[in-house]
Amino acid sequence: MRRYFTTIWILVATVLICASLMNAGAGSEARAKSHLGEPRCGSPSPRLPQSQSQQAQAQHVQRMVAVTVDDLPGAVPGNDFALGDLKQLQKLNRDNPAILRAHQVPAIGFVNEYKLQVKGERDARAALLQSWLDAGLTLGDHTYAHDDFQTTPLDKFEDETIRGEVVSRVLMRAAGQTEKYFRHPYLDTGPTPEAKAAFEAFLKAHGYTVAPVTLEDADYVFNDVLEQAYEKKDKKLAEKTRKAYLDYVDTVFDYAENTSRTVFGRAIPQVLLIHDNELNTECLDALLTKLEKRGYTFIPLAQALADPAYDTPDNYIGADGISWILRWSLALGKHVDFKAGPEPPDWANKIFDQMRKERQGTPQT
Ligand SMILES: [Zn+2]
Repeated sequence: MRRYFTTIWILVATVLICASLMNAGAGSEARAKSHLGEPRCGSPSPRLPQSQSQQAQAQHVQRMVAVTVDDLPGAVPGNDFALGDLKQLQKLNRDNPAILRAHQVPAIGFVNEYKLQVKGERDARAALLQSWLDAGLTLGDHTYAHDDFQTTPLDKFEDETIRGEVVSRVLMRAAGQTEKYFRHPYLDTGPTPEAKAAFEAFLKAHGYTVAPVTLEDADYVFNDVLEQAYEKKDKKLAEKTRKAYLDYVDTVFDYAENTSRTVFGRAIPQVLLIHDNELNTECLDALLTKLEKRGYTFIPLAQALADPAYDTPDNYIGADGISWILRWSLALGKHVDFKAGPEPPDWANKIFDQMRKERQGTPQT
């Protein structure tokens, strides 16, 4: 009798695993269908039943993505250096880790510890990082004050890297974590080949691994626009912004997947960059649902980096923070039209540029 039940359970488990694998492997046709009823942010549409051909197609697609979230404990609209309001940051760092956890995304959050140093709020701000660790996520170093390597001398940039890990290191150790990843602000890996090589040697000597980015979805642009919509109490603009953001996510994934095929002839694991911002408290759930429908499995950064594609040299020097897949295309001599890459809509870029002109400040270190 007992054996009979065991057999039944094995059969049930096999059916469930197969069903979930097929669901996770939904291809681009399912994505196209989802446009018919574009979900509002935060309320993704229910999964659509798949046709047999979609399921067959999905079985051949093995897509993986590591999700990385920059500018913890919170990216404030219009200004890379604003310390942010504690109550608003508490909301960001409650909602975003919870959404990631709900989708079982083993994400990493890159921290600017400068934003923890507010008199009377230091414990409360350290707790913002703790909420990521409590959600089973991990942290990385994004320099102390979001320094720009292009305009920061090497020795200062190195100092700011060490200064940027003090609180995170203690919290991570208490959580039993030791891995160290570094994300360059503005994806700027150095102004000269010498500075770049010296900093990479510094990182290696301090046990850091560079966290590359293969695609980003300009969420910082849409986050600024959403803020303007809220300030003007413009519900239509807010709705238009959320929809445009999710449409743009599809465009950047289309581009990254095509580029992956051009450069490596296959679907390499992607590393997505988004930010710890308000837009994501509203849209991240829909974004992750969208990726699930595209057939993506969420993996830790370490797993993405274990793919041989990530051993390709990055010899790019320049102020434009281009993605690593474009850097690798240069190293491998594969032609990719950089200008063909997606851009957010002009109306969104315009509002973003205006917001930055009016509000972008400098760190008060
Ligand atoms: Zn950043």
